[in-house]
Amino acid sequence: MTTLAILTAAGSGTRLGRDLPKALVALGGFPLVVHAARRLAASGVVDSLVVTCPAGLDAAVRDVVAQDPHVDVPVRVVEGGSTRQASVAAGLALAGPEDDVVLVHDAARPLAPPRLVRRVVEAVRGGHGAVVPGLPVADTVKRVAPASSAGGVERVVETPDRAVLRAVQTPQGFDRALLERAHARGASRATAEGLAATDDAGLVEALGEAAYVVAGEESALKITTERDLQVATLLLQEES
Ligand code: C5P
Repeated sequence: MTTLAILTAAGSGTRLGRDLPKALVALGGFPLVVHAARRLAASGVVDSLVVTCPAGLDAAVRDVVAQDPHVDVPVRVVEGGSTRQASVAAGLALAGPEDDVVLVHDAARPLAPPRLVRRVVEAVRGGHGAVVPGLPVADTVKRVAPASSAGGVERVVETPDRAVLRAVQTPQGFDRALLERAHARGASRATAEGLAATDDAGLVEALGEAAYVVAGEESALKITTERDLQVATLLLQEES
């Protein structure tokens, strides 16, 4: 039985303000997608990778990832869709019957460490069908009424107890059959209601199935802005 990792790299990443898709932006001289692929491979628990890429960039993404000497697992590249959910579905379509565990990881989290990948896979192989890494939330979080903003002021509906909140990261890990069922349902909802999930565990929860949280890692931060890239540069320097 094997573990397949779907590495999502098909987003445009416009908030970084570069001409390149975010996954190809360099951090310490290497594209974000290469950093993420290296750490998945270094975990020792990933057997193959499927990378989702922006339209027309298959060759460029294949070259940088598959030819990297540190990525010593087989790599396939597939064109992503217009949403993250559609991109994951395109990757999942390449899973084989031997892939009993599937990880979904964002290239936008290039420094997620190998030990985090192992922690997630171990929990899935321990019988938890959907596993996400999560960190305690430092800020108090308010839920506001949808579209309640008037002049920049929003109405608060609820203040959830911070102690039971987790900010979730990737890689998220799944029993393959469960993830396939979750995506099949998610695809019908996306067609019927125009709703696409930003998180795969959310699709599993929508099926009424349990999802579980394991400890996340500060270094698995998501790169969205130029400042995030600067923080990641510091973390990378600390690694070496
Ligand atoms: O846009 P955001 O940063 O939330 O994207 C999270 C991850 O999903 C990124 O790694 C991005 O490349 C990927 N993505 C994708 N296909 C899309 C949109 C985003 O693979 N259509």
